[in-house]
Amino acid sequence: MTTVDLPLLPLGRGTDPLSERGVECPGDLPAASDPDLVARARAAKEALGDKVFVLGHHYQRDEVIQFADVTGDSFKLARDAAARPDAEYIVFCGVHFMAESADILTSPHQQVILPDLAAGCSMADMARIAQVEKAWEALAQAGVQDQVVPVTYMNSTAAIKAFCGRNGGVVCTSSNAEVALDWAFAQKGGVEAGTKVLFLPDQHLGRNTAVLKLGLGLDDCVVWNPHKPNGGLTAEELRDAKMILWKGHCSVHGRFSADVIDDLRAKVPDLNVLVHPECQHEVVLKSDFVGSTEYIIKTIEAAPAGSSWAIGTELNLVQRLAKAHPDKNIMFLDRNVCYCSTMNRIDLPHFVWAMESLVEGVVVNRIEVDPQTEQEALVALQRMLELPGKSHRD
Ligand code: SF4
Repeated sequence: MTTVDLPLLPLGRGTDPLSERGVECPGDLPAASDPDLVARARAAKEALGDKVFVLGHHYQRDEVIQFADVTGDSFKLARDAAARPDAEYIVFCGVHFMAESADILTSPHQQVILPDLAAGCSMADMARIAQVEKAWEALAQAGVQDQVVPVTYMNSTAAIKAFCGRNGGVVCTSSNAEVALDWAFAQKGGVEAGTKVLFLPDQHLGRNTAVLKLGLGLDDCVVWNPHKPNGGLTAEELRDAKMILWKGHCSVHGRFSADVIDDLRAKVPDLNVLVHPECQHEVVLKSDFVGSTEYIIKTIEAAPAGSSWAIGTELNLVQRLAKAHPDKNIMFLDRNVCYCSTMNRIDLPHFVWAMESLVEGVVVNRIEVDPQTEQEALVALQRMLELPGKSHRD
């Protein structure tokens, strides 16, 4: 079978570890209707004891998050796993790039498992390494590559993090994007010398940070479309730009719209609008508070009883916050249901299957980053850890 740089296999049977991630699980998956799933998950976890450490991303379903030893955002979870070297198995209830980051940051003897290999991330998949290498080459052709510092959001594949590592760039989270951009613009002679940033893969986080935190103009930003020759940009546009934003977005946060904010404000008095910086620029402009998932959680925890909040982030998290804070009026900032469909692939049947396989001594769905990629990705992650100030949460 030829390897194509496609994020998804056409639906069907079979797996292709070099492309995505498979559409079926080897062995028998318990039926979703199995009434014993909770008991089976509990028994498997008990049997594995300290050998297993279960990580649960904030956007996971309740049915799975109840088994997490720790919850958090992707970078915190990867670091938590690294701090538990006794745990031989790290079961990551999250998506593929997160499991890769955990593999990069944990010791070689720790095996990272993603219960469903089809749990990818549409945003991470919007920047494939072959596309990024091609763009890098085009920047050289346009005579600007020497001035460009690549910065990638944590929500990217290990290959993209490695690309940043070997090309003088850095990884950032949604909490430290401002500091990371400040650092990047100070490289290669600084802004006066024409330093530019290639920001991957989320154009919205890049634009919101550059314009609202660094004070750049919207016209300092151009969007690189990997599906167009030369990104759809002229050499002159590239020369004039300060931020080259990769045309990627989160399919969950990209859905929130400014008109829903207007509607809700007309209906709910004293409404506070709280969104994630992966939202579109016009949504962020109309919001009262903007920040990472950790920021969103802390803001709601600190909010006074009786206050009203419309939250623009993944629905599982919003629902959990609403349940945990019945004294606050918490609503979802969309008219439609908007779960992260790939996060939701990690359901109880897949979790039970992965855990019971481990009990039997069989490691399924191991996520392993090759040593060269790991080493280069670590360079970019290390640069992030050395950034001044801010926490490194996303
Ligand atoms: S919420 Fe968005 S960024 Fe996060 S995993 Fe889902 S698609 Fe990717």
